[in-house]
Amino acid sequence: MTILTLPTYQDIQAAAKRIAGLANRTPVMTSRTANEEFGAELFFKCENFQRMGAFKFRGALNALAQFTPEQKKAGVIAFSSGNHAQGIALAAQILNIPATILMPLDAPEVKVAATKGYGANVITFDRYTQDREQLCQELAQKHGYTLIPPFDHPHIIAGQGTAAKELIEEVGELDALFVCLGGGGLLSGCALATRALSPNCMIYGVEPEAGNDAQQSFRSGKIVHINTPKTIADGAQTQHLGQYTFAIIQKNVDDILTVTDEQLIDRMKFYAERMKIVVEPTGCLSFAAALAQKDKLKGKRVGIIVSGGNVDIQHFAQLISRP
Ligand SMILES: *Cc1c(COP(=O)(O)O)cnc(C)c1O
Repeated sequence: MTILTLPTYQDIQAAAKRIAGLANRTPVMTSRTANEEFGAELFFKCENFQRMGAFKFRGALNALAQFTPEQKKAGVIAFSSGNHAQGIALAAQILNIPATILMPLDAPEVKVAATKGYGANVITFDRYTQDREQLCQELAQKHGYTLIPPFDHPHIIAGQGTAAKELIEEVGELDALFVCLGGGGLLSGCALATRALSPNCMIYGVEPEAGNDAQQSFRSGKIVHINTPKTIADGAQTQHLGQYTFAIIQKNVDDILTVTDEQLIDRMKFYAERMKIVVEPTGCLSFAAALAQKDKLKGKRVGIIVSGGNVDIQHFAQLISRP
């Protein structure tokens, strides 16, 4: 078994310095309506206002900023149909690093366009007949590209952790923190920051009920693999945690909770109607789980990480107009 060197809070502090001035220090929003509904004080860290529309820019920038001159010259490669692609593409553009992104042939046109718009070279593949990881390795070897995975990498985790660091530095210690969870990069980074800055805070990861691999892994003590779950939370359709993220989550997180698509839609409406913000389905996981736990949160100070706002506006309109 390989021994992993897990990132620490010092790595998050270093990441914060690296991304300062390039990543947005996103706003923390509050809502009197939500506070009244909960009988608690809620603090929403709004990564939907991060550059490219989600927290993924933090980790991508932190990872690419640590490339050697040789790595910078050869370029980066990533595979993603979602926010990681855009995060890598934008960070690479800012740092003048050539980026190649592998996207499935059937990826949404808007996402392909956004990724190309940041100057990345997009290569499409057929996800039913081609193995993307193998393809990625081949391209990386042939051209000397460095592969940056979406969550299971110490530099990605440290970058994502800057979101919770900023939140707690701004509002003070918390009693509970809710974080959306796919592969666990955001959760593990935020858990490390929270353990350092607000040691007694309860930390919850939240994933879709249809794909509760992290909950199963957390409770059984080993990484559980599942088939791609059917859920509107497209940023959390991961099949398993990573080695780094699992180890950090096991050690630092208090529990993994799940919510249904209906619960996500309810909170999407709340964000739009009451707080005037557009949050993508995956970004609603944290708030939905907090609502289901609200009896336990009375009188507490609660952090909610709002992970992103990238949703096709037509799709958004359809979702929030469901009766
Ligand atoms: C990627 C993503 C997530 C999940 O993040 P992980 O680090 O994979 O757990 C949650 N929300 C949004 C908006 C995302 O883009």
